[in-house]
Amino acid sequence: MNTVYVNGEYVPQSDARVSVYDRGFLMADGVYEVTSVLDGKLVDFDGHVKRLWRSLSELDMAAPVTEDELLEIHRRLVELNNIEEGGVYLQVTRGAAPERDFAFPNPDEVPSTLVLFTFAKNLVGSPAADKGIKVISIEDIRWGRRDIKTVQLLYPSMGKMLAKKAGADDAWMVEDGFVTEGTSNNAYIVKGNKIITRGLSNDILHGITRAAVLRFAQEAQMEVEERNFTIEEAQQADEAFITSATTFVQPVVAIDEAQIGDGVPGKVARRLREIYIEESRKAAI
Ligand code: PMP
Repeated sequence: MNTVYVNGEYVPQSDARVSVYDRGFLMADGVYEVTSVLDGKLVDFDGHVKRLWRSLSELDMAAPVTEDELLEIHRRLVELNNIEEGGVYLQVTRGAAPERDFAFPNPDEVPSTLVLFTFAKNLVGSPAADKGIKVISIEDIRWGRRDIKTVQLLYPSMGKMLAKKAGADDAWMVEDGFVTEGTSNNAYIVKGNKIITRGLSNDILHGITRAAVLRFAQEAQMEVEERNFTIEEAQQADEAFITSATTFVQPVVAIDEAQIGDGVPGKVARRLREIYIEESRKAAI
């Protein structure tokens, strides 16, 4: 059985316990990170920890452990659960206050909750990457601080369900006529040698994979343009793709049933996926 980490202890998954008063459970008052694992090593751990510290600080939540301790916990879980390929999920919540109250509890009295678990998953060999995915567009009705990686994931879950119902794989969210991001990934289009993706702001999550992929693209002499784009522009693009820690670079071959390019994964997305996997393997710790 999998071992999970809960507040300082490594326990079998079925014995892991969090209070019903935990604010993560009652109020989605928590943040998370997902770090992928390749060859038993952590991909871009540094980037994920930096974003975690930022999410915590934006919500006035204390960091429960140090960066070194976090690394140690990640590594120990990966080892205990024999994860060669997959990921580590981490969640920090504002802890369990003695009663349900909207006001934040005093952090000196109520320690935050820290939970980590691992999952095994084929990340490199992925049918979705070979075939490409289909997305639909939906209105983005999420809150205004999407740059904070909170566990309020109900609308993204609804988006996935809407996509499934429509026979697609995922949804791209649209606000004021422009694509913000996918339900759990950043969104891109390609026109010629140019990669176009929305710029960073509070409107989207600052993807760790996004930062790496844009850097690799520039190093490979591709042009990167950070700007808004519409669904119509995306439908006319040569290629489209998404990025996230667990999907890496995944080609998008249809948007709202309009085929993108030739309707098969494009060469820019395929190349970026290769580079990303190669470089991530090299730099994983
Ligand atoms: N946007 C959203 C809304 C996400 O949930 C995610 C993945 N958690 C991403 C983008 C991609 O971020 P990353 O590359 O750090 O996984």
